[in-house]
Amino acid sequence: MNLCDFAPEYIRAIQPYQPGKPISELVRELGLDEHNVIKLASNENPLGTSPLAREAMINALNQISLYPDGSGFELKAAISQRYSVNTDQIILGNGSNDILDLAARVFLKPGAAAVYSQHAFAVYPLVVQTIGANGISVPARDYGHDLAAMLDAVTPETRIVFIASPNNPTGTLSEVDDLLRFLERVSRDVLVVLDEAYNEYLPEANKRNSISWLKRFPNLIITRTFSKAYGLAGVRVGFGLAHTDVADLMNRVRQPFNVNSIGLAGALAALQDTEFVERSYALNRTGMLHLTDGLRQLGIEYIPSFGNFLSFRVEGDVANTKKVYQSLLQQGVIVRPLGIYEMPQHLRVTIGLESENQKFLKSLERAIGELA
Ligand SMILES: *Cc1c(COP(=O)(O)O)cnc(C)c1O
Repeated sequence: MNLCDFAPEYIRAIQPYQPGKPISELVRELGLDEHNVIKLASNENPLGTSPLAREAMINALNQISLYPDGSGFELKAAISQRYSVNTDQIILGNGSNDILDLAARVFLKPGAAAVYSQHAFAVYPLVVQTIGANGISVPARDYGHDLAAMLDAVTPETRIVFIASPNNPTGTLSEVDDLLRFLERVSRDVLVVLDEAYNEYLPEANKRNSISWLKRFPNLIITRTFSKAYGLAGVRVGFGLAHTDVADLMNRVRQPFNVNSIGLAGALAALQDTEFVERSYALNRTGMLHLTDGLRQLGIEYIPSFGNFLSFRVEGDVANTKKVYQSLLQQGVIVRPLGIYEMPQHLRVTIGLESENQKFLKSLERAIGELA
């Protein structure tokens, strides 16, 4: 036996999370010019960062020898005001991934279970496995969450249900009626994590006032992030909104300084920059139309998406999908393969700037042509 053999079996069984390929890695591997490479693999904001947030973060550099405000006082006050919740209902996280992890650490233990959908965000099984709890994956319906089946999958041991809406990588959105029916029926002894990382990209007609549901459902936690529409993926800030008692437990477990001072300053300023979020939303809508039109013209099947990304299916077999992925890389376009999501024939592309969407479509056309 060596030391690592003593690590719990459930830890040794973990498959590491596969992030989107960084531009620098592709440049190293294929010797491409970095200016000719675009990354549409991690649902990052193609507009970059809010100028207000950028300025606030540069100013925050003056204070980085000091620990951050561990309570996140100012950011919580701003979130509280924006969303009409009390500050003691807020949990700040090092990205919303941190919130997902905290939920698992607070409510799961070996022998407990968590329910999530097939094709749902890969971090759910990961945080569940880290605790040694059982992950129950429920077959998707038309790539979306089958909330009725997920309700049926809840066992007496189940302590968490993860719902991503919109979901990544499928872009599917659960209907408000279905969500409310689920919340009404599921046991109050089960925490429902409603992951709304792409909330800011929802068209007006699909917006829902999910935060108001917190008053009715003390077992609900809503997670949001500054990584997507706010353009702050690199500084890692997300938050959860929940009942005070749930938030209190999660705040006890988190690291005392889990959100860094640059992130706190950036998120506070980004929250005020509604113009930037509106521009991000508008660019995404236009880009989504551009890409869906382009894919349709190429005869490529895609899953209609409510996020800032689109998953499409390459005809033929898995080998074809791999060839298209590789060809796109050769042409300097990084997208995301979805094998780990049980969608081995799909690739996911993030909506980019108009020029990036154009380059992607041209490169994809060529990649598909190479298959013949
Ligand atoms: C991107 C994403 C997140 C956000 O992760 P952060 O840790 O906040 O960067 C959360 N959930 C889903 C489904 C996502 O796609």
